[in-house]
Amino acid sequence: MHVGLHDSDKTGFPNLALMKIAAWHKAQGDIVEWWTPMFPFDRVYSSKVFTFTPECAYLPPDTIKGGTGYGIYGELPEEIDAMEPDYSIYPECDHAIGFLTRGCIRRCPWCIVPKKEGTIRPYRTWQQVQRPDSRDIVFMDNNVLACTHGIEQMRSMVGQNVRIDFNQGLDARLITPEVAGLLARLKWIRFIRMSCDTDAMLEIVRRAIGYLTDSGVKPYRVFVYLLVKDIESAERRAIALRNMGAEVFAQPYRNFEHSMEPTAEMKALARWVNHKAIFKRVCTFAEYDAHKRTGGNR
Ligand code: SF4
Repeated sequence: MHVGLHDSDKTGFPNLALMKIAAWHKAQGDIVEWWTPMFPFDRVYSSKVFTFTPECAYLPPDTIKGGTGYGIYGELPEEIDAMEPDYSIYPECDHAIGFLTRGCIRRCPWCIVPKKEGTIRPYRTWQQVQRPDSRDIVFMDNNVLACTHGIEQMRSMVGQNVRIDFNQGLDARLITPEVAGLLARLKWIRFIRMSCDTDAMLEIVRRAIGYLTDSGVKPYRVFVYLLVKDIESAERRAIALRNMGAEVFAQPYRNFEHSMEPTAEMKALARWVNHKAIFKRVCTFAEYDAHKRTGGNR
């Protein structure tokens, strides 16, 4: 069988589902290639993570589609999910990716995870996710600290030759002095990430950064995702986090269910925060706006 794979989002970040599908089909003796409309394929799979990625009009009508971007929240069939990802389809990817846990204990109204994955549960060990040819593992867990299995896995990585990242962020509400001590003993690829999505989270994130600092982690090693929905709140949080010495990354709110685009103001605020040279130099969003309107001559 000739199998075609289509990664709609083309973010450069490897798509775990497609890597597992590739591995499963290759194990059946099938030929697996990236899909192109130029050639016929016996079966085509298309994955789309983001709702804002446009749909490809040329995909065959019987394409097997999956992913939040298509509004499809189902999981891979068990036998495919059990496969080791075929990293060869993303040759530029030099690290392992995967999950220790699935799901989340919370129900944040803007988030698709509770609907898609349900409540928290153990999923894999870090040894099952690790690649033999790399010491780096990027975990995509949604709330690893909320699961005893997740904490145990983190403990068992202390002192091992692995560098890790939890790219969806850790839940700052669950960072106690003891957890901060554990995080400080792990090797991180670059950042310890968390989120600060509401005003109420600001003091919680400040407390978590304090615990981490007490355990020896420098604040600039903390990366904070900042949801941009209410402009004044987002600006307040961005400036406070900047003053704490954390690395801030703003994400304008998108309504996944209704495919609603962020407003121009949300996008402008995110540009201000994410333009590191400007964010560190220009004090407020209003000053950035004025700076932009005068062509940066003020
Ligand atoms: S804690 Fe994170 S993953 Fe869980 S529901 Fe809230 S935003 Fe989603």
